[in-house]
Amino acid sequence: MKLNVKTAALAAFAATSINGSALAAGPEVTTQKLAENVYSMDALHYNSLVVIGEDGVLITDPANPFRAGLLKEEIAKLTDLPVSRIVMTHEHYDHVGGTDVFPNADVVAQENFEMFMDKDPLGMLPDQLDVTFKDALSINMGTTIVDLLHFGPADGIAIAVVHLPEEGIVVTSDMYAPKALTRGLFLTDSNVLGNRQILNELATWDLNYAITTHSGEMGVEHLVEGAEFHNDLYDAVYPTIEQVYQENPAGLVTAVIELGETVKLPKYESWENYKDLGEHVRKMGFAITHGG
Ligand SMILES: [Zn+2]
Repeated sequence: MKLNVKTAALAAFAATSINGSALAAGPEVTTQKLAENVYSMDALHYNSLVVIGEDGVLITDPANPFRAGLLKEEIAKLTDLPVSRIVMTHEHYDHVGGTDVFPNADVVAQENFEMFMDKDPLGMLPDQLDVTFKDALSINMGTTIVDLLHFGPADGIAIAVVHLPEEGIVVTSDMYAPKALTRGLFLTDSNVLGNRQILNELATWDLNYAITTHSGEMGVEHLVEGAEFHNDLYDAVYPTIEQVYQENPAGLVTAVIELGETVKLPKYESWENYKDLGEHVRKMGFAITHGG
């Protein structure tokens, strides 16, 4: 049933591209070689890691059936090997579709992903998970090692940070964006204290590339700046929150809402979506006072 829906969606996309002159050139995939057997493929607002192993190919976040089809074509230009593993960076539904395009691949995710399998009315999630892990999983592709690490909630609760230790490459999703604040709208399911913790940890690693899924820019400096932004955000709200907590805990919600109006971080004024700073401030305030 789910397969039929997805096939129909693919057919609809195909029909659009044949009939619609605007789509005549087709969407572009930007492929970049990052290291021996390791590539990034940036297309339709998602950047996937592609690792060519001895017996198969590992990819991250196909996103949706149409984009998965594009990846499949692009990978075929590099190797005859099939996609054998699809790693989900987290459970958010816009990242996880399209696994049916690679019918023989194992879907790999952090174990919390499982909780969402019966909460998916549109059928966007994969039909099943083939491999899950709790804290860490190391995948030997024959050509290189791909480590998956879970540090707790951040942007979602089934986070798998993807790390290639030999190549110095890391993949995260939705925790930072190059020279931009994440749009406030997309913070609904983000624990920004978790983002801060992970980004500060990764900022100490020896890295050559840092992929954040929605950007083609892979400079490690963007990850470091993302960590700094979260630290500055924390430092801007914590003293007030701590004081209110000591003096009048019942006033915490009001204090957090007010901080959303008053805190400014001029250092980031030039960043895209700076107008959404208030939502980041409130998110940080509630992460500190409320968890979630
Ligand atoms: Zn997300």
